[in-house]
Amino acid sequence: MVDDEGRVVVLLVEDEVSYVEALEIGLAHEGFQIVAVQSLADARDALARVRFDLILLDVMLPDGSGLDFCRELHANSRVPVIITSAKSSEVDVILGLEFGASDYLTKPYRIRELVARIRAVLRRQAAAPHEDVLTVGDLVIDSQRRSVTRHGAEIELSRKEFDLLALLTSSLGQVVTRDACIDALWWGQELTDTRTLDTHIKRLRQKIETDSADPRHLITIRGVGFRFDL
Ligand code: CA
Repeated sequence: MVDDEGRVVVLLVEDEVSYVEALEIGLAHEGFQIVAVQSLADARDALARVRFDLILLDVMLPDGSGLDFCRELHANSRVPVIITSAKSSEVDVILGLEFGASDYLTKPYRIRELVARIRAVLRRQAAAPHEDVLTVGDLVIDSQRRSVTRHGAEIELSRKEFDLLALLTSSLGQVVTRDACIDALWWGQELTDTRTLDTHIKRLRQKIETDSADPRHLITIRGVGFRFDL
């Protein structure tokens, strides 16, 4: 999950302008691609449009708590979060409760330390065993074997249906745009009728959802794309 130039893409959620400027320069210098937002609303908006490798999240934000947001993210997504906090007293809270953060840093911190933490989190993420086998309700999706089973029974998916499922489940809880789906499935080919994508989504839903008329996992975000929820 890197951008076209092979850079790690980081979402920076921070409302202190001095930090934003320093981080944009410092992290870009280390080869990271930064998208900076100053509120939770803008963070949600960015997450709906872009696939991030990591989120750097401030705690005190103008429209809410970064900790609550972190917990919300953790329920739906595997994007690692590093929390940054100005109050060292909050560290106890972060450590004591299950917010799902991968790490935390107390402000002020050095860019060098932040970069080391980011790289460590990304290494752990890459080494995590859940990359290949994902359990979604009663479905088990094995991306290595390219198989999907329910209660041990194989569900037969076409190649494109599996690719679509793999794409959506690689960004759990995040919207994958229609364009991203089309690029991934019909790469390099002219897709004259984008309803073809909807046909594949429909078939996939019929195969993996208990009730395809009322899907629990494969959610359509009208006019934008699709989201896979656990
Ligand atoms: Ca703040």
